[in-house]
This record gives sequence, C-alpha cells and structure tokens, in this order.
Amino acid sequence: MNSRKCLMGMASEELASLASGMGEGAYRGRQIAHRLYRQNALNLEDMPELPKLFREKLAEAADLCPIEIAEHFKSTDKVQKLLVHNGDRNLYECVLLPYEDRVSCCLSTQVGCPMGCTFCATGLGGFDRNLSHHEIVAQYLLLQSITGRRISHIVFMGMGEPLLNLDNVLKAINIFTKEIGLSARHLTISTVGLVPQIKKLEEQRLPIHLALSLHSPLDEVRDSMMPVNHKWPVREVVRTMREYQKATGRKVTFEYLLIERVNDTQEQAKELAMLIKGIPCVVNLIPWNWVDVGQQGFKRPSRERVRAFRNALEKLGVNVTERVERGHDIAAACGQLAGRHQGKFAKRSTTAGAPESIRMSTTS
Ligand code: SAH
Ligand code: SF4
Repeated sequence: MNSRKCLMGMASEELASLASGMGEGAYRGRQIAHRLYRQNALNLEDMPELPKLFREKLAEAADLCPIEIAEHFKSTDKVQKLLVHNGDRNLYECVLLPYEDRVSCCLSTQVGCPMGCTFCATGLGGFDRNLSHHEIVAQYLLLQSITGRRISHIVFMGMGEPLLNLDNVLKAINIFTKEIGLSARHLTISTVGLVPQIKKLEEQRLPIHLALSLHSPLDEVRDSMMPVNHKWPVREVVRTMREYQKATGRKVTFEYLLIERVNDTQEQAKELAMLIKGIPCVVNLIPWNWVDVGQQGFKRPSRERVRAFRNALEKLGVNVTERVERGHDIAAACGQLAGRHQGKFAKRSTTAGAPESIRMSTTS
C-alpha cells in the first residue's frame, strides 16, 4: 500500500484531526465521515459542502478508497461478487447476498489463507498478506454502492482467517458499528479455531456472533482436514467456544462441512451431539462445494446422506440449520473464493504467517 492516507476506514475523530491538521475546522472531518459512511460517497466530488481548495489539498494527501474493482460478477440469483485489488497483484473477493428480509455481505480478511485446510480453495492457494482495516471497510462500502438496499449484516467468511488478522478486523468492526451504525449482533466471525484469539475476542465484550468451523468431533478426522487441529484439538476449541458463549450470552454456531464418508457418518453425528451438549448453539450443515483439491477424492454427500446426518443430530436434541447455497454460477460460495481466478494470481505457495506448529504440519 502507498504512504498516502486512506480515508475509508478512518474514524470521525481521526478525520477531524486530519482536517484540523490541514487548517480546516474539525467539523469538516465529521462531514467527510457522514458522506463516507452514511451517504456512500465514493469520491471527493460527492462532498460538495467541502470548500474546493480543501478538496484539492485532500486529494493530494489522501485516497478516498484504497481498493478498485477488477471484475464484477452477477449471478442468476442476484448474488454479486466483486474481485478487488489495491494496485498490487493481490486480488481478493467480497460477495453481496440479498435476501427478502435483509441484505448481507461476505468479506475477506486476508489475501489467501495460511491455514491449509485440505478442502478449501482459498487454503490451497496459499497466503499473501493480511488486509488492512481500510481494505476491509472498503469492501463493504463498495458493495453498499452497488445495491439500492442497506447492507445490515456482515459475515467474515470470505478469503482468509479473520482471527489471524484480529487487530484489523476489530478496527473495521469499530467503523461498522460506530460510524456506519450496524449492530454488533449482525456481525459474524467464522474461525478455523484459534484458541488464544477466541479468548482475545471474548475480552472485547462485544456481542459479535461467533461461528467455529468444526467439521468433525473426532481429532483423527479433524487432523486430516484441518492442520490447526494439531495445535488446538477439538475438545479444547469446543471448551473455548463454551466459555465464549457464557461470556457474551450469544448463541454460537458450529459450522459443519459435510464430505461423503469422511465426516458425515452416523457415529460422528452422535459424537458431535455429545461434544456440544449444553451449549446454546446451532449446527449449520454445509454440503461441501466442489473445488479441485487434487488427490483427496472428496465427494459432496447426497441429499439422503445429509438428511440422515441432520435427523441423527435432531433426534439427540441439537438445533440444526442447512446453509442455503447461492451464487453457484459465479463461484461465490464459501470455500470457492479465488478458485476461478488462479490464473490471475501469482501462485501462492507459502504458509508464512501461520503459527509455527501449523506451518510444520502443513509442510511435512
Ligand atoms: N477461515 C474462516 C472463515 C473463512 S472460510 C473459517 O475457516 O471459518 C468460511 C467457511 O467456508 C468455513 O466454515 C469453511 O470451513 C467453509 N469452506 C471452506 N471450503 C469449503 C468448500 N469447498 N465447501 C463448503 N464450505 C467450505
Ligand atoms: Fe483458511 Fe478458512 Fe479456508 Fe481453512 S477454511 S484454509 S481457515 S479460509
């Protein structure tokens, strides 16, 4: 990123001191914040109340938006996906998800991901870098500019592991809640299960909805799908989720990707029900979206197998939902992001940035 300031992602008070530093009243900063965050200004011409000279000085010192749209995909079911960049070779994606009663969006937190989950297109592509909080906020504002409806919900389920970039995710959340006015209850962080970072998130005392990508109650199965499990095994991460739920009072979600005969067995349904017993939660079933994962031989389970898994859980008193899949024709579903654009990336092969033990287990 260049050294110019990015206005998108700056809080009102920062914009106020920027304006004061340039010889303007602090209220000019608050005017900029209002235009940016409440009226979706995408350039300085959209802020006519600012004196022309100030706008010119500002244009020299700062960029309004740190990112640009490289490609824009529209699906037949109204899902839209933006492929964005900020002038370097790093492309990442964000997705607009309109529903009848609300509009949600799915944001990326990293370019690629170092966690190396064996079923995920992003993980298989390797890792480039964390996104800044400016780049995270800008994804939302760009998506907001292409829909006539207000985006009220955000899921951090795009490219990357949000808790590996927690400081920037928290800074972005501060803008979403304090400047844009979204409810923290409408923000969902999905994590692969980094125990210390879940505890750090808990300490923020924000009622953010937390989802754990659990995917199996058995260590040997989870180990084979998610290298992170070597470091923080199933029981430890579920205990941490139990504590997060108690501390925040919010129901948690356990995401459960279903891969035929790997983790969709009746035995695992029973083990799962026992593991999460007593936690106010919901299990969200996600039939695996096909991505080319080489020799794994993974298969998406049939509808019958999904139903049998669901029935087994419900019989044991578990609340279950099934992810409604959308945006198939533009590969906008979870775990498929970046899958279609590999040709545009320099192939990422590094797991740098992952905790040491994870790096070791993904490269061994
Ligand atoms: N890194 C975070 C958030 C991004 S992934 C995490 O792992 O939770 C968002 C969700 O998509 C996770 O639950 C992940 O396990 C799931 N996912 C990854 N690859 C998938 C695929 N091919 N099909 C369906 N879901 C997938
Ligand atoms: Fe990263 Fe999540 Fe994909 Fe795992 S599933 S590789 S943590 S993005």
